[in-house]
Amino acid sequence: MTIVRQLPDPAPPVRHELAGSYVARLAQIHGMDFRTLWDQISQPTSPKSKVRRVNPEQLAALTGRSTYQLAGALPELRTPAPDWRTFRHEPQPACHLCTARHAGGPVLLLLQHHRYVCIRHSIWIGPPDVDHLTTSLNELPEVVHAQRRHMRLLQQAGWAVTYDAVLTAILICAQLWSWHSEDLPGAWHEWVRRATVLIPPGTSQTAFSASRLCAAVYPEAITLASRFASPHWRLSAQGTRFDRDIFDAEMGRILSCRPYTRDRVDDPISHWADVNSRRPPVTPIRLFTDRKPTRTPHIYRPHLHVATRRAVERQALEFDPTKRAGASLEKHRHLASVYRRAWYPIRISTRDPHPHYTPHLNRFP
Ligand SMILES: [Zn+2]
Repeated sequence: MTIVRQLPDPAPPVRHELAGSYVARLAQIHGMDFRTLWDQISQPTSPKSKVRRVNPEQLAALTGRSTYQLAGALPELRTPAPDWRTFRHEPQPACHLCTARHAGGPVLLLLQHHRYVCIRHSIWIGPPDVDHLTTSLNELPEVVHAQRRHMRLLQQAGWAVTYDAVLTAILICAQLWSWHSEDLPGAWHEWVRRATVLIPPGTSQTAFSASRLCAAVYPEAITLASRFASPHWRLSAQGTRFDRDIFDAEMGRILSCRPYTRDRVDDPISHWADVNSRRPPVTPIRLFTDRKPTRTPHIYRPHLHVATRRAVERQALEFDPTKRAGASLEKHRHLASVYRRAWYPIRISTRDPHPHYTPHLNRFP
């Protein structure tokens, strides 16, 4: 094993930082080549492999920090390993104001599913997108407040129920935003207003991002999610017609459309109440640990198919918040787990309390 000397300026890691990102910053601060430093503090994943993983003791010797301190900041170094289901599978940039004092270049973080806003600086940070754009929310304080409500929901319902409820609610908002209908909910006007602030007219080619569309629906999505996560409202959705009327009235109140009319074709809320409210919470399809280790762990670009990138460019070119804008958000990969389930039918029992429900075909593979 290589004997490692402590660096003269062992800058601290950022909480939840990717190990490769931290080592790359240390190399940059000391004018060293990343690979030289990386090879000193890592070891091959297998005897013949060229791919390497960090050795916590070597990194501790390099930085003069204990393995305990390093593991507190770098999730990859923790023993036992964290519950990776609670983390997003893709690294992403941190709030640029939070990391401004950290030298050595960009900071890549592994964030948990509930991190959407830096409350301290009012910056939209998630979910990760094709281009890593972080966004000021100074003109949209309700989006910042929604992150606080999201944290409260997490404390009350736990990560699994919150993960399912929030992603389901974001997907439903996206579906309602992309409806071909005259009967649009009042919340639609709010989504258009926020999208116009985040992606000003004439700037869509540089400012368009599905993540920003997610910010536009986030406040209503968190309010819907708190109902989807509540055992009381789930029972109302599944109960008698009277219970269901109360549930529908609540949905109408949240989406500013009174009265809320259920049973429309492709109504995602009716479908959730009839079918998905009875299912256990979805779990993430992909985990961070499913990624193949690379020789450049400090550089992250989402692995998107060329066709997907072209589709995003086309969406940016054609973007108009008043014309089915939610369609771009609907297919965003951070919603993949709930998107797959969204219209998936179940066998309807003859004792089903909602005989009006007609199962849809599985429209989405
Ligand atoms: Zn910040």
